[in-house]
Amino acid sequence: MLAIGLIKGEAGAKVLRIPKPQIKKPNEVLIRVKEVGIDGTDFNIISLNLQDIPARSKTIVLGHEMVGVVEDVGKEVKNLKAGDIVVATVRRGCGLCHPCLHNQSDMCMTGLYTERGIHKKDGFLTEYVVDEDQYIVKVPSSIASLAVLVEPLSIAEKGMEQIKIMQNRLPWSCPHPQHDFTSAEWGGCKTALVVGAGPLGLMATALLKLAGVNTFTSDILPSDTLRPQLVKQMEAKYINAVDKTPDEVAQICNEETKQLDIIFEAAGAAKEAVELINYMSRSSIYVMTGIPRKELAVKINATQMVRRIVRYNQVIVGSVNSNRQHFEMAVNDIPKIDKGYRNIFRKMITHRYKMRDYKEALNGDMKDRIKTVIEIDPW
Ligand code: BGC
Ligand code: ZN
Repeated sequence: MLAIGLIKGEAGAKVLRIPKPQIKKPNEVLIRVKEVGIDGTDFNIISLNLQDIPARSKTIVLGHEMVGVVEDVGKEVKNLKAGDIVVATVRRGCGLCHPCLHNQSDMCMTGLYTERGIHKKDGFLTEYVVDEDQYIVKVPSSIASLAVLVEPLSIAEKGMEQIKIMQNRLPWSCPHPQHDFTSAEWGGCKTALVVGAGPLGLMATALLKLAGVNTFTSDILPSDTLRPQLVKQMEAKYINAVDKTPDEVAQICNEETKQLDIIFEAAGAAKEAVELINYMSRSSIYVMTGIPRKELAVKINATQMVRRIVRYNQVIVGSVNSNRQHFEMAVNDIPKIDKGYRNIFRKMITHRYKMRDYKEALNGDMKDRIKTVIEIDPW
């Protein structure tokens, strides 16, 4: 069957011919891949030639955001059957550390995990995949056409979960007990800044708005382009940061409430990400999810920064990957967000390609795209 991937020592994505996988263990599931989403990680892997090829292999199949249909299941698989629409998680645990042994490989302690389509394991940009049922999450057929977004949304869900876990230390950030971080309305009386209006930033914006947070989302695009328009469609406020310092961006967020409770970094711009630490409010939390790639050294006033982090009880937390629970949260939230904000998710999928047009699909230079989807087997 056909696949798109990298060949050891060669630059750029290539068409690969690989054997169709088969169910070998009783807990495995065979899936016909329908669609695969492309994100910044894929563009980086290709443009920077980050070859993280599986052991003893000469190729890696790309793609980690997928939706497919179950074709067959092993004898022990109870909760899935042929015809089910499913998505697959990305990371496969090291099998050694306690988080990995307890379905939390997103928190792997050894670093010996693999990631399908990214790190030492073949991905989903192919016709069929086989995996264990523990990594496969069922999706209702009503959201089949948006299910390719479950994986990126799961990344935002994990970031949001980290915020809630950490900020639980602060049950009285405002006078309303119903705005406690454990409640569904936790976002009331809170202000957030999302840095970056790419797919991840837009998804974080959606989750913050869903929780009732007063949300600002910044990027460096003119207001009349699609990303800022989608920010506004979610009733969040767009900040064009192109000619603004981090200080000025923070001031805009601070104007109303004098408190910037949450910063969600989803751009992966290392310098700006570090500079923003200086503008965190008291007791606030800063979640970083963007992964910068180019080496970059910046000068900082370390004394001032550390002093504020301590005196202001601040939390800076990194958040990577997502586990099955975050996928389930995403499956739950997709219909709420899409209905709540006039088909916002549909509009995020700006580009669709057939598998044979993979080169164009994987060209990261197109400015007007938000989410690119490769159709392997159209619905
Ligand atoms: C994926 C994550 C992965 C991360 C780092 C992201 O694009 O969505 O699942 O952990 O890249 O490899
Ligand atoms: Zn309140």
